[in-house]
Amino acid sequence: MIWNETMECMSRKDMRKLQEIRLKKTVERIYHNCEPYRKRMQEKGITPADIQSLDDIVKLPFTSKKDLRDYYPFQLLSVPLSEVVRIQASSGTTGKPIVVGYTRNDLNIWGEVGARCFTAFGLGRNDVVQVSYGYGLFTGGLGAHCAVETIGGTVIPMSSGNTEKQILLMHDLGAVGLACTPSYALFLADALLDSPIPREEFQLKIGAFGAEPWTEGMRKELEEKLGIKAYDLYGLTEIIGPGVGHECECQNGTHLCEDHFYPEIVDPSTGEPLPPGKTGELVFSTITKEGMPLLRFRTRDLTSLNYEPCSCGRTSVRMNRILGRCDDMLIIRGVNVFPSQVESVICEMPQLEPHYLLVVDRVNNLDTFEVQVEVKEEFYSDEISKMLDLRKQIIHRLQSVLTISPEVRLVEPRTIERSQGKAKRVIDKRSFI
Ligand code: ADP
Ligand code: ZN
Repeated sequence: MIWNETMECMSRKDMRKLQEIRLKKTVERIYHNCEPYRKRMQEKGITPADIQSLDDIVKLPFTSKKDLRDYYPFQLLSVPLSEVVRIQASSGTTGKPIVVGYTRNDLNIWGEVGARCFTAFGLGRNDVVQVSYGYGLFTGGLGAHCAVETIGGTVIPMSSGNTEKQILLMHDLGAVGLACTPSYALFLADALLDSPIPREEFQLKIGAFGAEPWTEGMRKELEEKLGIKAYDLYGLTEIIGPGVGHECECQNGTHLCEDHFYPEIVDPSTGEPLPPGKTGELVFSTITKEGMPLLRFRTRDLTSLNYEPCSCGRTSVRMNRILGRCDDMLIIRGVNVFPSQVESVICEMPQLEPHYLLVVDRVNNLDTFEVQVEVKEEFYSDEISKMLDLRKQIIHRLQSVLTISPEVRLVEPRTIERSQGKAKRVIDKRSFI
């Protein structure tokens, strides 16, 4: 099912035209209503009249996470505070949070794009959906909540935590959909297996997972463990929250709601635009938002875009799986390593649980790199030779993917700390030296 066929299946030509009109309007509005942006544009010697086509977007300045901190809390608003009906803030990082203000109309847009996502996952007005993303300043909970309400489904506003109750309500209320981070879904999958209630008594069929990078291997694990179809839901606070993009039944790329959020891919080190298909940093300009519209916001997310039409009927551009954030990339002994590369190796090996931790340190000026991973109950053995053999296999596979050789520590099942929100999978002790 498609929620908004007009927008999701529009010809590429018409989409570009629409984006152009909306971009021009947004630039105009920002220029006249947001002082920091006006100053930036003046410094670059441009006015809204210089933006006549989508290609002119490269003339506009970038916006970074740092800008959102520097202009904390309200200087990047393009409307008076009286127009703002909701505040959300970014979850992760330390220091000042990143604060975003939404007008009534922005919340309607959020509901609209969220509805496109949940409809594409196969959910509708007859479905009960458990939202186990955290509620509060984090956009996950309220964003998914609003999406389910917009499609007319029945939302269970669970938030994260309280696992026993999660399982009880999922069962008693007949939840068909589950929306949470993939790492929390793994945690719930184990809880479900441990629960005395047989799996057949649950109605669960569809997962709406996002807010952190996850691999194809992790999708397989989740689909098998939970007996569901697991779909990608993408979003970020600065742009709107969950709803910026979603997978469809083809599970072959994440469709972006590009009539609201115009995407570009740039070289992360130079900021130069890259051609379609090339991997680089994803950049968004919001082209319909009123409260805090952003121009050329650098997400730090590394991915590539595919403009081919999809077999689901949608023509909207698809984003390939996010490799990670530029900030997630570890440089170990001079080699670039993404946690997602380690995850894909771990998920391929039937002896391992998808729970892992990367520990990086520096001893005598040399980087050390250890991968801790849980071994499945049935493969965990007291026989040292068996464990040594398994360890060797893992090191071998990791080395061929990463080109450097890590230490591997096999640990017993259920010993690595579980996450109820975004998983923390890297401990880099080098940053504390
Ligand atoms: P924070 O930056 O504090 O984590 P957000 O909650 O806004 O704040 O997180 C947005 C980020 O989460 C995105 O920029 C991206 O890195 C990550 N993310 C969100 N959804 C996905 C997804 N489906 N796949 C991979 N990464 C995702
Ligand atoms: Zn599709």
